[in-house]
Amino acid sequence: MGKDELKVRIWRGGAADADGRFVEYAVPRQDSQTVLDVVTHVQRMLDPTLSYRYACRVGMCGSCAMSVNGQARWTCRTHVSKVLGVDGVLEIAPLANLPVVKDLATDMSGFFDKWAAARGQFQGAQSRHDDFARVQPDTPQRKAADAGIECIGCAVCYASCDVVQWRAEFLGPAAMNRAWTLVNDVRDTAQQERLRAVAGDAGCHSCHTQGSCTERCPKGLAPTLAIAGLKRTVARAAVKGKL
Ligand code: SF4
Repeated sequence: MGKDELKVRIWRGGAADADGRFVEYAVPRQDSQTVLDVVTHVQRMLDPTLSYRYACRVGMCGSCAMSVNGQARWTCRTHVSKVLGVDGVLEIAPLANLPVVKDLATDMSGFFDKWAAARGQFQGAQSRHDDFARVQPDTPQRKAADAGIECIGCAVCYASCDVVQWRAEFLGPAAMNRAWTLVNDVRDTAQQERLRAVAGDAGCHSCHTQGSCTERCPKGLAPTLAIAGLKRTVARAAVKGKL
């Protein structure tokens, strides 16, 4: 391997763990090279059978997240120079806590099913014939919703969450962050159902507040705070007999 080459280990394999293994590649080093550039080089120049997922390449779509040297990251905005270990090796694997479809591509359906299970859909009472609802931007509820609304569904938080790893049914940080934005949406009419949905054993009270989701979220969101807000709101509703 030349000094202008990068040693890369990429997870290759199918859905069954027993099929998977790391395969080593040598990739030319470039200035400002991202991890996604490296994966794309391998797929286009070295092995076209490598499967992975991306779309926008600019940190908007959330589809290129992978595990890079053991940590979940969006690969399009992660520079190789920032994450190389002392051994100079880049190790790229599929996101943790999600089933592998093939190589670096994971099955996201369970992740998004949990958004639905947490009542992550807005439910309003107005029709298209009504005037637009006017929500004041400086109210505490709107500010709380705004703080979590920029989620791009990348699943970096989900892959970083130990509770998801321990309890497969745990809704996870992204789904509950979404639920919290809707709990604070004064137009929404499904509040009681939503609080019930996040109050069970798979919901907010199973969070251990370790904060990995908040530390790793590439959008700088704080699912830990959202889940804490759900805990308080669920507790208040329970005391008032509204669950
Ligand atoms: Fe990604 Fe952050 Fe949304 Fe989690 S909360 S899915 S890390 S953008």
